[in-house]
Amino acid sequence: MKLSNYQYDVLMQQFDNKRIRARFELDRRMEEVYSKIPEIKEIDDSVASVSVSAGRSALMGDDSALKELENTIKELTRKKEELLVSAGYPSDYLTEKHECSKCGDTGFIGSEPCECFKAAETRLLLKESDMKDMIVKENFSSFNEELYSDNIEDYDRELRCTPRENIRSVREKINAFIQNFDTEHKNLLIYGNTGLGKTFLSNCIACEILKAKHTVMYYTTFALFDMLSKYIKLENGYKDYSPYRDSVVTCELLIIDDLGSELTNSFTETQLYSIVNERLIKGLSTVISSNLSPRMLHERYGERLFSRFMKDYEFIKLIGSDIRTKI
Ligand SMILES: [Zn+2]
Repeated sequence: MKLSNYQYDVLMQQFDNKRIRARFELDRRMEEVYSKIPEIKEIDDSVASVSVSAGRSALMGDDSALKELENTIKELTRKKEELLVSAGYPSDYLTEKHECSKCGDTGFIGSEPCECFKAAETRLLLKESDMKDMIVKENFSSFNEELYSDNIEDYDRELRCTPRENIRSVREKINAFIQNFDTEHKNLLIYGNTGLGKTFLSNCIACEILKAKHTVMYYTTFALFDMLSKYIKLENGYKDYSPYRDSVVTCELLIIDDLGSELTNSFTETQLYSIVNERLIKGLSTVISSNLSPRMLHERYGERLFSRFMKDYEFIKLIGSDIRTKI
């Protein structure tokens, strides 16, 4: 999973905060215990002083002093625990508590990211792309092919199948896209009339790719161009949108939903082309959905962009009648 530098900093800051919080909590517990059981403070003080003198002896080459120190500390720790328990505290009350005991909230085990770090990455990316709610509702487990007609009168002459047969093959193509995401870096253009499940399918893809711990950005075309125009204008004077523009180009999967719903102008055309193109050069996958047919996309966005689609995107057509009335 690749985070932008900005996202990485945000995440590391969260881990730093966790450790600071843990340290703060421990200090608070120590203060509380010291005031109730002064003997424990004496023990801690003596551990500190024997450590210093043992350290000095070790420097002089006296290894037996270190051995002795270990034993003394063990003995004092045991005594401390006894005191804590007899005062009604848990025996580990004075140990630092980390959310993740594997990495001590550093996020790393050696140079490898810990499971908790990977989970935090996914949460961050989900939050940033506003997908959390959507994904809970929309994923393949709620996919129902029976919403697509299997009647012969809905047979599509061009694709030579019924809407249901078509959606089965669409699902197979999407499954292949997901299964081979790491190796093939394919791009999809899902198109068809309103209400045939394009957004639903985009969400399913996002969900599966996120589960595989890849970075996914999801934008409606409207939100994407809104962000890009702010990025260009540096709107508000203080808010820098570069990290967002960066992640649109560098995330492992970019989903652009409902292409064609925006008001097109030369700005959107140029931006769209450069994003599509930059991602192709980097070998990163993009999924675009649109109500526009290939012919209309060609008319709207011109030859330069359309030829990229033709060459590097798999076109997936959805057919049938509006399934939203059937849910
Ligand atoms: Zn961890």
